[in-house]
Amino acid sequence: MSMIIAVNAGSSSLKFQLYKMPGYEVLVQGNVERIGLESGQAVIKYNGKKEVVQDVFPTHKEGVDFILKVLLDYHIIASLDEIEACGHRIVHGGEYFNQSVVVDDDVVSKVEELCELAPLHNPAHLIGYHAFKEALPHSRHVFAFDTAFHQTLDKERYLYALPYEYYTDLGVRKYGAHGLSHQYVSQQVIQHLGNPKRSRIIVCHLGNGASISAVEDGKCIDTSMGFTPLSGVMMGTRSGDVDPSIMPYLCKKLNKTAQEVLDIYNKKSGMLGVSGISSDSRDVEQALFKEGNERALLTGLLYARNVSKYIGSYVMELGGVDVIAFTAGIGENVPYLRALIIDDVARALGCHIDVALNNQRSDESRVISLPSSQVEVMVVPTNEELVIVRDTVRLLGINEGE
Ligand code: ADP
Repeated sequence: MSMIIAVNAGSSSLKFQLYKMPGYEVLVQGNVERIGLESGQAVIKYNGKKEVVQDVFPTHKEGVDFILKVLLDYHIIASLDEIEACGHRIVHGGEYFNQSVVVDDDVVSKVEELCELAPLHNPAHLIGYHAFKEALPHSRHVFAFDTAFHQTLDKERYLYALPYEYYTDLGVRKYGAHGLSHQYVSQQVIQHLGNPKRSRIIVCHLGNGASISAVEDGKCIDTSMGFTPLSGVMMGTRSGDVDPSIMPYLCKKLNKTAQEVLDIYNKKSGMLGVSGISSDSRDVEQALFKEGNERALLTGLLYARNVSKYIGSYVMELGGVDVIAFTAGIGENVPYLRALIIDDVARALGCHIDVALNNQRSDESRVISLPSSQVEVMVVPTNEELVIVRDTVRLLGINEGE
């Protein structure tokens, strides 16, 4: 028996899941939040129970020490030696990584170099990695990249129409994001289809961040996020695609710097900006259905139009589509937005949702379209941690079980 821990380290948080091998059983999952602040909190879920612990975590090191202490104190593991490996989510792998890798000094220095392209994420991932490496000197580490699945894009799909040297010299291109989720969901759909040789799938990862991808025969051919996770469809607080000329116009009109306006694009736009209510779709939904709030209605319609436009363009790129799959917080849990999106593409694609199936709540992967629909519509709960752990197992040759 061995344990593998999947780690997702953010700038002030440490999410983890502990898997028992063989068999991929999740023994415990949790999140240490508010690292570096005056008061921190940890949420631990195990054995059907949820515990919330208030504590102070000055750095990620204290967060890691806390997690490992919990595992021992709750008798989830008998000794730290049982943790054979750690799989780390890394947001940006640039052009270096088209798949997960076993970590060595060269890998670490490349991820360090990429901090410039993901200044909010990669440094935090590295801090998490170093903290776990120090606490578990015997265990091996794997990095799983959120950009890797999108490395199969053709040049004409990842290049921007800017001077070519900005790509060759400065790395300006589309990298995409949410790759672990797009990979997991598209593989689930391919399995559902019976593992055919040919398949055309559009994955709509709609969470706080959101991205759409086109997957042909298991390979990603296009995706909506770009150089950074700001582009593509509108999100909780992010604008998605906007005309770049709005930036200097707002700088001038609002007397703000480019960085300040970029912050508005990132933190005050999207659902929050349009609705004026909240970045959380649940609040917007409540304002719509309980109060008939007009801006909430507009937000839903705009959101659906943002997503359906991408679906339309990806149908063109794929030469058709077999399955449209919804995933992540909104994709899995918000039937009225799924219905609005499919409604937008129904006339062109002949695809229709079964209202009862769409409204049903379930944690299972499922079809929500009518049998007569020309395109299947599915809801597939995502599982990024499982992709990380599976890659860790494969790369390190750990026994998987059946
Ligand atoms: P993140 O990008 O932070 O991982 P999530 O995938 O958790 O985001 O998605 C967050 C969004 O999903 C929020 O807008 C939230 O309202 C919505 N959401 C999450 N869970 C639910 C739920 N159970 N019911 C309704 N909406 C949900």
